Amino acid sequence: MESLRGRGRLTEENIADTLRQVRMALLEADVALPVVKGFVDTIRAKVVGQEFDKSLTPGQMLVKLIHDELIALMGAGVRPLNLRAQPPVVILLAGLQGAGKTTSAGKLAKWLKENERKKVLLASTDVYRPAAILQLERLAAQLDVAFFPSDPKKPAVTLAKEALTEAKQALYDVLIVDTAGRLHVDDEMMVEIKDIAGAVSPTETLFVVDSMAGQDAVNAAKAFGAALTLTGVVLTKTDGDARGGAALSVRQITGAPILFMGTGEKTDALEPFHAERVASRILG
Ligand code: GDP
Repeated sequence: MESLRGRGRLTEENIADTLRQVRMALLEADVALPVVKGFVDTIRAKVVGQEFDKSLTPGQMLVKLIHDELIALMGAGVRPLNLRAQPPVVILLAGLQGAGKTTSAGKLAKWLKENERKKVLLASTDVYRPAAILQLERLAAQLDVAFFPSDPKKPAVTLAKEALTEAKQALYDVLIVDTAGRLHVDDEMMVEIKDIAGAVSPTETLFVVDSMAGQDAVNAAKAFGAALTLTGVVLTKTDGDARGGAALSVRQITGAPILFMGTGEKTDALEPFHAERVASRILG
């Protein structure tokens, strides 16, 4: 009867092979193991018993469902930046060193200036690396965006407060606060960034993460997610060769939507997050 109606059903047996392949693909794309398990379980629970068109094999049907589910999960909650708060809107950037925070601060400033016509102030609180402060200063000059001159002899929290006072007094629409990154998560750094967040009450607290970072991205996401109320994620280096499974891991671990993707080193290489593009790469 079923074959006459041209339909079949997905069963544990006919999906087992495909799920195994998906599991491998996700692991190869560097998605964290617990996230892979959770994803495969969700898919299994969702699809067993579903009807499919006989013009597709169960495998083809399942691949489409998996692709759609991956897009739904990674793309969940994608939205524009919240710029409706009382100005100055504070955007705090957090993440490991090398993730792309300073570059993303510049990209966001350019985007806010050009697309949203906002008056932006850039500030760095990286008192441990004067070179990082200089990097942001140069970027600000290149973009013709205002820069708050941070004195690296002062504590990071003091600098953040001073930058906010300046942003209020000079009537900036948006203050972007770049923070220190360490190569690995450490407690002192987490206390400092928590204090900065407490001092400037950001409207957006964005976790900046290298899409190629794999397990490091997962550990950082856990630590920053535990320390801060993350409102969004900036996924950088999506132009790289890696399949970028960190996107799915970070979305699941932080629970925060991925708002932007960095697509290159240049200051205009920032786009709203496109889940479809990343999903296709993750599945390989
Ligand atoms: P920070 O330590 O987190 O502030 O990281 P930086 O902003 O200094 O970035 C570290 C490196 O990553 C720099 O060489 C950037 O040019 C590079 N980078 C940042 N974002 C992207 C991106 O989206 N694509 C590529 N290809 N490189 C990026």
